[in-house]
Amino acid sequence: MAAQTQLFLCLKDNFGVLLHDSESGATAAIDAPEAGPVEAALRQQDWRLTDILVTHHHHDHTGGIAELKARHRCRVVAPAAEAKGIPQVHEGDSVHVGALTARVIETPGHTAGHISYAFAREKLVFVGDTLFSIGCGRVIEGTPEMMWESLVKLRALPDDTQIYCGHEYTQANIRFAKTIEPANAALTAREQEVLRLAAARQPTIPSRMGEEKAANPFLRADVPEVAKSLGLAGAPAWQVFAEIRERKNKF
Ligand SMILES: [Zn+2]
Repeated sequence: MAAQTQLFLCLKDNFGVLLHDSESGATAAIDAPEAGPVEAALRQQDWRLTDILVTHHHHDHTGGIAELKARHRCRVVAPAAEAKGIPQVHEGDSVHVGALTARVIETPGHTAGHISYAFAREKLVFVGDTLFSIGCGRVIEGTPEMMWESLVKLRALPDDTQIYCGHEYTQANIRFAKTIEPANAALTAREQEVLRLAAARQPTIPSRMGEEKAANPFLRADVPEVAKSLGLAGAPAWQVFAEIRERKNKF
């Protein structure tokens, strides 16, 4: 496979990730929380930064852009609703990193213009702060209905899609998810895997879409048993989602 990734932690609990096309030598940073760790990851792999693909405008995803852009003269791609003076992309646009091609999926809710980058052939998706492993981003600039629709779009990707998200929140997310679906076997299996990874000081991502669909309560708001257990049998899925999100906010 021509696509390689390099994952690293930065700031407090942000994930940084590089995507490299070995065919052309192109390398993209998905978001740029801070320049130093991106530079270190580039040096470690001996890769040259050609692109930065931005998911949303929050500072912990964009703080390193100016420094990296000045040093590498790389291209910066950002969501149309949140970018000024740099290439802006919309739903369905193609973004190229060397020979690799991403489709832009608009995933508003956390921010109004948040986007995700799906590389269909490589079965990779970079979701920023929309979807986390066993969790999802806070609904800050959008509505719960909007966020639910964004998650449904991501959920439609193939089950073997590898998901790269913006933060290492998985263990806390699992603690909360068990309050929603304590008997979910897929959730228990993911918990065991995450405990193993944490003990080995390994990142818990990428996760896989099929497993998230089975274990992540935020992707399961349209499962009748979940709605029923929350006292919301028959309610629209976005309302069930809103209730789960509200409980997580207070958890
Ligand atoms: Zn954010």
